[in-house]
Amino acid sequence: MSEIVKTEAIVLSKMNYGDTSSIASLFTEEFGKISVIVKGARSPKSKYGKIVDQLNYLSIVLYKKESREIQLLSGADIIEHYPSLKNDLDKLRYAYGVAELVKNLLAEHEVNKRIFRGIVKILSIINSGAEKPEITFGRFFIFLLKETGYEIQVNSCAICGKIKFDSNLYYNFDKGLICGECTKTVVDNYDINLELLRYLNCLKNNESTGNFSNLILQKAINFMETHLKYHMPDFKGISSLKLFNQR
Ligand SMILES: [Zn+2]
Repeated sequence: MSEIVKTEAIVLSKMNYGDTSSIASLFTEEFGKISVIVKGARSPKSKYGKIVDQLNYLSIVLYKKESREIQLLSGADIIEHYPSLKNDLDKLRYAYGVAELVKNLLAEHEVNKRIFRGIVKILSIINSGAEKPEITFGRFFIFLLKETGYEIQVNSCAICGKIKFDSNLYYNFDKGLICGECTKTVVDNYDINLELLRYLNCLKNNESTGNFSNLILQKAINFMETHLKYHMPDFKGISSLKLFNQR
């Protein structure tokens, strides 16, 4: 038996299927990550073919059947399609990066409304251009790591709990931030730049970031990628960020 259900969704990716159809990967508010088939999507007469496109925020109707791996889409309306984001390659790279992280970090059918609202909010900020897209992306990345159980611990020393952002500090990918004194008791510590640490804390606390250099903004993304690769060996980095010409 199939039931007709309605939910909001973000289109993570889309591919051609058969002669005229498409299969899309969606992150939905009510059912988590699911795949849907849009029959006849590539026919010029299709009502939903153009609407179901990567990064669009939709209200959708599905014929849902638990036993089916790919659900059948029966209706879709645009809530937001972020036109400014799609016309700017730099913004687009980071928005694709958001979709790529969600595809990588969430299991099928894992429902998380906080992450859903987070994606909608972050795409809207990237679209608005209110701050550099790499900062907005950094905010999402650090939030998503926490929500999916890969939190980076940068608030205080993981061993003694002291907060001293003026001395030598290190990072251990299992434990988190380690102060100079505690390095004696922990192996595998990496130097962490103080500026980077301050910036990561701004992202984590969702504070205004002020004037950090572009180098620090990039270093933070690389740091989070390295952290994730350490904890999730299948993760190969965010390929969207390498798309198009780097500045
Ligand atoms: Zn310590």
